[in-house]
Amino acid sequence: MGVSCGSHLRETCHRASDRCSRLFPCLSDPARRSVLSLKVALVMLHLVFAGVLFLFDHDLIEKTKKEPWYTAIYVSLFVATLVQYFVTSGTSPGYVLDAQKAVDERDALARRLLLASKQPASSQNGSVLITVDGRNHHRGNATAWTKLVMDLYPPGASIRNLTCPYCNVIQPPRAKHCHDCDKCVLQFDHHCVWLGTCIGQGNHCRFWWYICEETALCLWTSILYISYLKSNISKAWWVDIIMILLLAALSISLIFLLLLLLFHSYLVMTNQTTYELVRRRRIVYLRGIPERVYPFNQGVCRNLYLFCFARSGMYRMEPLPTAEELEEKSKPYTCGDVLSCRCC
Ligand SMILES: [Zn+2]
Ligand SMILES: [Zn+2]
Repeated sequence: MGVSCGSHLRETCHRASDRCSRLFPCLSDPARRSVLSLKVALVMLHLVFAGVLFLFDHDLIEKTKKEPWYTAIYVSLFVATLVQYFVTSGTSPGYVLDAQKAVDERDALARRLLLASKQPASSQNGSVLITVDGRNHHRGNATAWTKLVMDLYPPGASIRNLTCPYCNVIQPPRAKHCHDCDKCVLQFDHHCVWLGTCIGQGNHCRFWWYICEETALCLWTSILYISYLKSNISKAWWVDIIMILLLAALSISLIFLLLLLLFHSYLVMTNQTTYELVRRRRIVYLRGIPERVYPFNQGVCRNLYLFCFARSGMYRMEPLPTAEELEEKSKPYTCGDVLSCRCC
C-alpha cells in the first residue's frame, strides 16, 4: 500500500510539473528555472528584511502615521532597488554576435543605398553592376565586421587567434566568451550569478547603479534595525534574537556591497574590467604592459562619460593603444601633471 501511495504521489507530482511546463514553457529549461528561483529568492529576502521590521517595530509604524514621507522614501528606495535589479538582469550585456549583426545590417543597408543611387545613372552597365554587387554581397558583409575588428588590433594580428571557437566570431579587444551564457560579451566584466547574466559593456552602468541602490537600502534598513534594538520598549526575547540575527546578516551584506561598490567605482574611473584586473597576466593584449598602466584609460572624466552613456544598442569598440600611447601613459606623474589634472 505504501509503495502504491508513493508511486501515486510521484505520478501526481510529475503530472503537475508537466502541466506547469506547458503553462510556462520557460520553466522546462533547468537553467532558466534556476535563474527564476534566484529572482524569487531575492524578492523574498528583501520582503523578509523589511517585513519583519514593519511587523515588530511599533515605533516605525507610529512614525509612518506622523511622518508618512519618511516611510514613503524608504518604500520608494525599496521598489527602485528591485526594479533596478530586474532591469539590469534583463538588459543585454552587449553580445559580440549582436554587434556583428548590427554592423552587417548597417553595411548591407549602405550597399543597398549605394546600389540604388548608382542604378539609374549607369543604365547601360546596370546588369553588370547588380551582378557584381550581388555576388559580393555576402562576402562583403563578412569582411565589414572583420575589417572593423582587425583595425582595432595592431597590424599583423592573426584572425585565427582572435576567432572564438564557440561562437565562430572574431572578437574585438576586451571581448570574452562566457561559458555560462555561451556567448561572447563586449567589454566582459564577469558573469554575475546573483543577476543570472553577464556584466559587460551594455549593462555595467546599470549594475553599478544597482549596487549603489542596494547599498543605500541595506544601510537604511540596518539603521532602522539598530534604532529598534536601542529603543526602550519592552519586547519578547525571541524578537530580539531574530532582530540581532537579521542585523548581523545585514551588516555582512553591507560590508560586501560597500567593497563591491568601491571596487567597481575604481574600475570605472580607470576604464578597466574585473576580468582584465584579475587575469591581467593571461590576457594577450595586456602582457608586457607595466602593472600601473591602464591601456584603455582616457582620463577620469572621459571614462565616466563613456561608462554612463554606453548603451546596449550602441556598440562601442576600443582600439588597442599604440606603443607611443602606452609609453605616454607609462610616464611617471610630475608636479606639472598633477596641476594640469593629467589623470582627468
Ligand atoms: Zn564566443
Ligand atoms: Zn555570462
